[in-house]
Amino acid sequence: MQVRALPAVCSGDLRYILKSCHGCRSGRGRKTQDVDKIMSTQTIAVHLPDGSVREVPTGTTPLEIANSISPRLAAASVVARLTPVTEVKAKAAPGEESAEAAMYAAEDAAAPRLVDLTTPLAADTRLELVTEKDAEALKVVRHSAAHVLATAVLELFPETKLGHGPATDAGFFYDFYREKNFTPDDLAAIETKMGEVVARNEPFVREYEPREQALDEFNRDGDFMKTHFVTKFTEPGAEVSFYRNGKFVDFCRGPHVPSTGRVKAYKVLSLAGAYWLGDEKNPQLQRIYGTAFFSQKEMDAHFARLEEAAKRDHRLLGKQLDLFSIQELAGPGLVFWHPKGGIVRKVMEDWMRDECLRRGYLMVFTPHVMRRELWKVSGHEGHYAGNMYSPMELDDAEYRLKPMNCPGHILIYKSSPRSYRDLPQRYAELGNVYRYERSGTMHGLLRVRGFTQDDAHIFCTPGQIEDEIVACIDFAEAVLKTFGFSEFKVELSTWDPNDRAKYAGSDEGWALAEGSLRVALERKGIEYKTIPGEAAFYGPKIDIKLVDVLGRLWQLSTVQFDFTLPARFELEYVGEDGERHQPVMVHRALFGSVERFFGVLIEHYGGAFPLWLAPVQVGLVPISERHHAYARKVEAELKAAGLRVEIDDRNEKMNGKIRDFANQKTPYILVFGDKEEVANAVSVRTRGKGDQGSVPLAEFIAKCKELVEGQSTEL
Ligand SMILES: [Zn+2]
Ligand SMILES: [Zn+2]
Repeated sequence: MQVRALPAVCSGDLRYILKSCHGCRSGRGRKTQDVDKIMSTQTIAVHLPDGSVREVPTGTTPLEIANSISPRLAAASVVARLTPVTEVKAKAAPGEESAEAAMYAAEDAAAPRLVDLTTPLAADTRLELVTEKDAEALKVVRHSAAHVLATAVLELFPETKLGHGPATDAGFFYDFYREKNFTPDDLAAIETKMGEVVARNEPFVREYEPREQALDEFNRDGDFMKTHFVTKFTEPGAEVSFYRNGKFVDFCRGPHVPSTGRVKAYKVLSLAGAYWLGDEKNPQLQRIYGTAFFSQKEMDAHFARLEEAAKRDHRLLGKQLDLFSIQELAGPGLVFWHPKGGIVRKVMEDWMRDECLRRGYLMVFTPHVMRRELWKVSGHEGHYAGNMYSPMELDDAEYRLKPMNCPGHILIYKSSPRSYRDLPQRYAELGNVYRYERSGTMHGLLRVRGFTQDDAHIFCTPGQIEDEIVACIDFAEAVLKTFGFSEFKVELSTWDPNDRAKYAGSDEGWALAEGSLRVALERKGIEYKTIPGEAAFYGPKIDIKLVDVLGRLWQLSTVQFDFTLPARFELEYVGEDGERHQPVMVHRALFGSVERFFGVLIEHYGGAFPLWLAPVQVGLVPISERHHAYARKVEAELKAAGLRVEIDDRNEKMNGKIRDFANQKTPYILVFGDKEEVANAVSVRTRGKGDQGSVPLAEFIAKCKELVEGQSTEL
């Protein structure tokens, strides 16, 4: 919102200095920033990213500074980022505001923020010119495209009332109220009209008007949504910020691209209905979705990527490759692993169990249902009941399906006295858990009601925690690398000490926990982003998000610190001093959920699994019936080498059999007739490479073994 009061700290935006403007549309006495008046003899210091400092007259704009550096830089700049020179505490971390607040609420002058290139600078500031290389610039383009969309809608359908139009991760939308529904033809006309608005290259100009006047006008014009936003996000006596392009004016705090011509590539995508403020008693709005990019080339690449993602959809491939199903009769969100998915799962789980044992974990198994009393002690009855299946009444007590494995592992720890010499105790389990997800929110293997966590709980002394966390991160890296992911992003979720009610534990506990996670990440030399206020109620956590072949981020591995459950269950160990102490606990899951990880693997590889994971590794195609005996011999030798083999001995044409194996994305297809049989050879067709000619069988087997043992992603 546009509170016009001068902030305690000003980081250089002269939006507070106003002048009257004559001749504005609809009689609005709106004011623009008066650059002339403030071009005083005073100067300010503008600190540039290269470390240089420019003394410029107060009121100089980022655009002028860009031009003085190079006209090319000026042309490439989208917005400017201002950061206060003096350290002051920002009210909220960047990105923490709600989407609406980010459009309307007053800018926090203490936080780094984006401003228009034409914003007059009022005080010393750090200045960064934001070009198309900066991801945030794309959001500015997309939000500006939303203004262009609204401009087009009002020109075509002037009776329409405006809601709001933020940028989203994938593009932008704008909410409209209009009695008649937009038709597909209307959407096409709107997109064409947007082209005219862009071609007119209208500058985006920021204007101000007293709040009361703005509210009067919005009320008068029946702009109920704008009235709501101004009332909610601005304070009495404030000046309200608007942006104008041509005749179109919208309540907004910006920033925007310099002019409509900078919205170079855009597309109107779809229409959806939504009730105003989500209340069905309110008028129904029409939300038009669109997207925008810096260039047509980038937009084409985006749609090509979407097409590719659709082809890789794990639900589609799961059916096509007969990997898994979800059955109406059994219920949504519950996964059936078919034999071909089942064998991949076995390979994944074997790898995980072996790796756990190699890394000093102990394998455990715990029950699927446990007494309700246990969930009361653990706190799940209080904090997590909404995600749990309802209790079942048995003859002795009430029981609940487990949503987490932690209490089970805790009971194993607690089953005998522990000394510091026993620690750390690392319990691992591929544990099935059941969590309630609202019906309609399930999505293939990615969002389910029953899944298998590759869960582990580490009980250790406070002094061991750093090493344990480092070992967990090492393990997580090994998982990602082994399964073919080379890139990942790390987030550290911390608590919000101003919101104590949300968290259990003491200040010291949190300081120890967050400190040890940070030190562990730093010891590993891993770059990470801190997300304040995102910690679990019992402690901070590290989330590792992998990046798949299409550049999509997937949240899978998590390492969490917990000092709450050990207290709730009164866990102890006898220390070196002979006294009783409380251990700390780490929860960690690396696949996260076996189901979800499998879903991501299917999409990452488009169903074409590396040899070591492929359900059928080698498909055998005897050319005719008289080669069936040789086929059996080849099969036996491959199986003896531990390979998964399938023979197609149907009475079909050779090419049809090859095609069927290829459609199943089988890594190797071996074809053989008289010539191969005589030579004890096979003719090899490699997935993605085609016919490789005849190879001695022993040589082929040796190569396969090497690739499987090395978990190679190559063929
Ligand atoms: Zn705007
Ligand atoms: Zn746990």
